Amino acid sequence: MALIQCEDCGRDVSDRAPACPNCGCPIAAADIAATEAPTTVTVSGDKFIGTKALLIKLSVKAIQSLNYKVDAADETSGLVSFTTGMTWGSWSGVSGSIYFDEVEPFHFEASGNAKQNVKGRQIAAFDIGGEAKGKVDKVIQEMRLLASR
Ligand SMILES: [Zn+2]
Repeated sequence: MALIQCEDCGRDVSDRAPACPNCGCPIAAADIAATEAPTTVTVSGDKFIGTKALLIKLSVKAIQSLNYKVDAADETSGLVSFTTGMTWGSWSGVSGSIYFDEVEPFHFEASGNAKQNVKGRQIAAFDIGGEAKGKVDKVIQEMRLLASR
């Protein structure tokens, strides 16, 4: 919460107040200013604050810094997909996707799913050693690190 000046009477008013308690002037205009699109991604609890475009960019950065391959990054749908390299044994890596849900203006929740690739085929195996899902969590974790830098 921040204090702003009422544009009518000049009194300090909370930017969350629907109207000035002194003169009743609505401060909806201030509300809009307070929710202006952020220009960088920040982390708040388990949510990312930013825009979908910024989050897509950040996730691409996170995927690359983990040496995974970005398959697709779609700013419209908020979906990013990636593939990891060979990991262990006969597995040929993990295909994962991460998507961003806007739960309130400019507040996003990241979630995703992953498939283990086996010899060129994909099988839906979320919990083989937790590895596939672990890659998604790792990317989200890396995004948090990058955002808090
Ligand atoms: Zn006022």
